[in-house]
Amino acid sequence: MGNSLENNYLKRYIIRKAKQLGAEIVGFAPVSRWEENKDTTLPYYPQNIFPFTKSVIVLGVPILIPMLDTTPSIVYSELYNTTNRLLDEIGYKLSVAINVKGHKAIFFPRDGYGDISVLVAKPEAAFSHVIAGKYAGLGTIGYNHTLLTKEFGPRVRLVSILTDAEIAPDKMMSEELCIKCELCRKCCPTSAFTTTDHLIAEMDKTKCAMYHEQLKKDYRYPCGVCIKVCPVGDDRKLYGKNTRKYLNEKKILTQDPTSAEYSGWTHCRSFGSK
Ligand code: SF4
Ligand code: SF4
Repeated sequence: MGNSLENNYLKRYIIRKAKQLGAEIVGFAPVSRWEENKDTTLPYYPQNIFPFTKSVIVLGVPILIPMLDTTPSIVYSELYNTTNRLLDEIGYKLSVAINVKGHKAIFFPRDGYGDISVLVAKPEAAFSHVIAGKYAGLGTIGYNHTLLTKEFGPRVRLVSILTDAEIAPDKMMSEELCIKCELCRKCCPTSAFTTTDHLIAEMDKTKCAMYHEQLKKDYRYPCGVCIKVCPVGDDRKLYGKNTRKYLNEKKILTQDPTSAEYSGWTHCRSFGSK
């Protein structure tokens, strides 16, 4: 690994710049971790997609719980769009800044599909930021297939930068953050998760994508229930745990759509989307 003083300087520079641009969490993974851990297959390895890649930098921005709680709504939809714009900007500007320092660097866009109908036909992405985040030490993969982080649980959106700089890696987490409470399974509106003996659920991604197709037509996309209800994350210290409220939401609102307990959420759902 090149000059370690130079690498330390570059790592500090990237973290400082990423945070200035709006990233809340930043982690570094060497490409060897894709070969060592084999969570995916060769065509999805960053060094296979862009052969110059030696390190992957993963950056995350948080999703604010009270806005997510209103999902499906235009309030959450706009928050989702805001995080996407921010990730695009951070990814682009940081890649250029690393180029200026004399290293190849590109960002792999946070979502890679032109229309939701494409995901219904093929519910997969060309590159997994979730796996990259795990290898960069930002978290572990939960029952609901998302990256669970210490700071925000699964309520974090990610982008990755692929670079030829050899940067000191961050340690991968050794303990799973998911407590397998299965709240995500119980609250999923499409019952996309099925219980397994393993930590990570079997998931019907087509069911999930088809539901998103409808939400998109209704201008209240995406769903996000499986990240909303997850109890993991320090952001819960600020906003509290709503386990009972989440579990009862569907039943209570079916019985009484005007329930006072949920009135803030249902209010947001009745404006700006169908
Ligand atoms: S809701 Fe529970 S089971 Fe689902 S990802 Fe979070 S901790 Fe794991
Ligand atoms: S996004 Fe919604 S529909 Fe898809 S798995 Fe999560 S809770 Fe279920």
